[in-house]
Amino acid sequence: METTEIKIRTCPICGQEYTGRPAISRMDCETPICPDCGTRQALTSIGIDAEEQEKILDAIHRSMDRCTQDKV
Ligand SMILES: [Zn+2]
Repeated sequence: METTEIKIRTCPICGQEYTGRPAISRMDCETPICPDCGTRQALTSIGIDAEEQEKILDAIHRSMDRCTQDKV
C-alpha cells in the first residue's frame, strides 16, 4: 500500500520545513534535504556561485507561484 499522507520534513541544511518529495544531499547521497538546498548543491556542482544560485532559486519560486496563485 502506498501512503499518500503529507509529511512535513525539516531540512538539516537550512532548517526550513518543507513538504513533498525531498532532494537527496550530494554530500552523502542519503540525507533528504529540501528542494531548494538540492538545487543549490546541483548548481554548486556545476560551478554556479552563491549569488547566481539565489537568482536562479528566485526565478524558480516565481515560476512556481505562477502555477499556484495565478487568478488573474
Ligand atoms: Zn534546505
